[in-house]
Amino acid sequence: MGFLRERFARHVAWTSDSPLGLAVERAYGPYIELDNGHRLIDFISGIAVSSIGHRHPRVLSEVERQLDRHLHVMVYGEFIQRAQVEYATLLCSRLPDSLETVYFTMTGTEANEGALKLAKKATGRTKLVAFERSYHGDTHGSLSVTGRAIYREPFMPLLPDVTFLPFGETEALESIDRETACVIAEPIQGEGGIRVPRAEWMQALRARCTETGALLIFDEIQTGFGRSGTLFAFEGFGVVPDILTVAKAMGGGMPLGAFVASSEIFGAFRRDPPLSHVTTFGGHPVSCAAARATLEVILEENLPARARSIEAHIRRRLRHALIREVRGKGALLGMELADKATTERVVRRCLRAGLLLSWTLHSDSLVRLAPPLNIDFDVLETAVDIILKVLGEAEA
Ligand code: PLP
Repeated sequence: MGFLRERFARHVAWTSDSPLGLAVERAYGPYIELDNGHRLIDFISGIAVSSIGHRHPRVLSEVERQLDRHLHVMVYGEFIQRAQVEYATLLCSRLPDSLETVYFTMTGTEANEGALKLAKKATGRTKLVAFERSYHGDTHGSLSVTGRAIYREPFMPLLPDVTFLPFGETEALESIDRETACVIAEPIQGEGGIRVPRAEWMQALRARCTETGALLIFDEIQTGFGRSGTLFAFEGFGVVPDILTVAKAMGGGMPLGAFVASSEIFGAFRRDPPLSHVTTFGGHPVSCAAARATLEVILEENLPARARSIEAHIRRRLRHALIREVRGKGALLGMELADKATTERVVRRCLRAGLLLSWTLHSDSLVRLAPPLNIDFDVLETAVDIILKVLGEAEA
């Protein structure tokens, strides 16, 4: 154990001076087991990834089947790979008709990179519009449209011609104009502190994009695959994007992302020049096999409805003087506490009591609550009991 920790410190790059540093032995369902024998309830799902729990048996068996067929065979887009075709067909069957073509990536940020490039090439415009407090990933393009200056400034210059608007303010939408290639938005801001906009605002955003010819990109990397209570969050607002980006829960624990649009929009990538957006590993066949099993489970077990029951249950039970607000939608919830110190204390004590929670990137007083969608209700009860007990102690 000391040996592992020492090598982790020396040879694995850290992203902060204080990583959680928990040594994982195995994970299954809603649980993560540590090498010291402790078992945690995973109430953040690897940040909205393990929506059907860890190592779901259907995912494992499809992964094994694909391992027996083939791994990587050719760079993306050249060969017909059954695992990609089957998954793209299933995904598109659950999306509006205009979202009919899938470009596979490995990660969320790559999906957004591709979507931004596609929008620029399809419209011949360069202006990008994004929202304050958004998070779209950490590669240069996605970071350029991420709405928090402290994360962008150390890496300037980033992409030019980006305008940030306040999220949820209708008047600001006037800044979307005929020079705008695209507007990128999370239908529910995740890292910005689990913020749900009004449906009327989303509809005004859609209308303004249609009026000006700007393409609307919805980043559903965190909200997608049932987490918000519908298969995709945009369904809950009655608007359809021109380009949809997905990742995280998509692969059931395997790395996979995608951007989805009409075949007409995707025509822009095929010409002038051809091969204007290529990747080696996008849509890895093992990840696509895992993704098909994952989506089948989500649909067969109606997990979007389950997300709504989780929300109702948490909202009913999670009441305490220290909680200022519980906000969000479905199983993408946040519990706002008084300040950073209380939040850190509560998250730390919950961890000691066997419950894994975290905060969101742009908010340090919000505790993220994002359990697997198929979590048993008795495990959910145990998790809420732990939070209430810890809040009681924090108050004392
Ligand atoms: N977009 C959103 C809304 C996200 O929440 C994230 C990751 O948290 C990303 C994009 C980036 O995805 P990835 O970490 O897979 O690159």
